[in-house]
Amino acid sequence: MSTNTNLRILIAGGGIAGNAVALQLLRAGIAVTVVERAGSPRPGGQAVDLRGPSREVAERMGLMEGIRKYLLHEKGMRVVNAEGGDVYRWSMEMFDGKGPVADIEISRGDLNGVLLTELAGVAGDLDYRYGEWIETIDQDADGVTVGFQSGVSERYDLVIGADGVHSRTRKLVFGPEEQFTTFLGGYMSFYTVPTPAQAEQDWMSMHVVPRASIGIRPDFDPATAKAIITLRTDQNPALRGDVTAQRKLIRDMLAEAGWLAPEVLAELEQATDFYFDELVRVDMPTLSAGRVTLLGDSAFCGSPMTGMGTAMAIVGAYLLAGEIAATPADLAGALARYEAQVTPFLDKAKELPGGGIKMMLPTSKFGLKAMQQVGKLMATKAFRPVMMKMLDQTEDYVLPSY
Ligand SMILES: Cc1cc2nc3c(=O)[nH]c(=O)nc-3n(C[C@H](O)[C@H](O)[C@H](O)COP(=O)(O)OP(=O)(O)OC[C@H]3O[C@@H](n4cnc5c(N)ncnc54)[C@H](O)[C@@H]3O)c2cc1C
Repeated sequence: MSTNTNLRILIAGGGIAGNAVALQLLRAGIAVTVVERAGSPRPGGQAVDLRGPSREVAERMGLMEGIRKYLLHEKGMRVVNAEGGDVYRWSMEMFDGKGPVADIEISRGDLNGVLLTELAGVAGDLDYRYGEWIETIDQDADGVTVGFQSGVSERYDLVIGADGVHSRTRKLVFGPEEQFTTFLGGYMSFYTVPTPAQAEQDWMSMHVVPRASIGIRPDFDPATAKAIITLRTDQNPALRGDVTAQRKLIRDMLAEAGWLAPEVLAELEQATDFYFDELVRVDMPTLSAGRVTLLGDSAFCGSPMTGMGTAMAIVGAYLLAGEIAATPADLAGALARYEAQVTPFLDKAKELPGGGIKMMLPTSKFGLKAMQQVGKLMATKAFRPVMMKMLDQTEDYVLPSY
């Protein structure tokens, strides 16, 4: 894919979506500016899966060599009781690498690092700015004038909003967040902890209590692990940006959990990569408005519960860059084809496996017992295909070639 045009494209957001599309546009000879609100690359996030079409895109983008250096060698997932004993185990082999633990797993921060390393190595016209974001967007038939928080104003041919689930680009161009998001019944948090001495090496371990779960997942560095916390509770806008209240909610809802919870929760204050957000789904009636288009969580989010956020970001980035490079003189046509190509993938990827948070986190001890029985049933040979189908319905999606 080599185009060499005079196009200038601005990308808001240096997450997986923004960096993946930046890399492919640059390789096509297109000038790219990326603005990332954080002051440096954001670490954090637990293991993300690459399976089916997203793995194929990673291969086509030449990312697999970098990814292999950071692969997590997880053996599977175990659900444990308050004393740390097994309730059941789902090994990777039981589901042929297509269960809750996929054969290609990498921590989100490491995957972003692989993309940034590739970006640094591309000979192209890249302007990457940390600590910067868009304040205003004014578009006309010939281009988009963007005002940045730094006071600078610049002109671009296209703006890509890859600035996450609470996208400012989406708000400025399409309207308030509430128009496009559906609350899915809870919150999730991820952060790095020193690996607890009693943690079973190379296994993801989860413990569920009424309305909440706490888990640990191996990290690339065996000295650390990722804490995964899910809370089933009502939406509370006051939690946005209030880290003290977020940590308190986590502590309150897991106060009686037992297992390794006290050790994992003790790290809440120190964690430098603490991530907490509400679980929402994003549905846009259309992905583009004139010369502004959306990509990744800003455009199509199913929440971390789907396990498909990174897959959607990578596949979407591949399609968007591929279509722009195919017809750089016809951006409107490229954006229309991007939307038409990506929509069938999203329709499947956004579905919540197994009924979402109500099934994952029952409110009573009786409900928990019932859920554990379902978990054990899914481990039997007869039900394994059902589980695999639930976790990835996008296997049959056929990627176009560019
Ligand atoms: C720190 C972190 C940890 C995560 N951990 C997990 C996880 O463990 N499991 C999981 O399933 N999903 C996780 N996610 C979400 C997951 O990364 C996405 O679902 C998926 O990768 C799609 O990514 P994205 O690039 O669209 O959005 P994001 O990953 O959210 O990236 C958006 C980027 O835009 C930046 N940004 C936000 N607002 C602005 C603005 N106004 N201007 C410029 N830049 C802006 C953000 O700082 C961020 O770097 C995490 C996201 C983050 C940011």
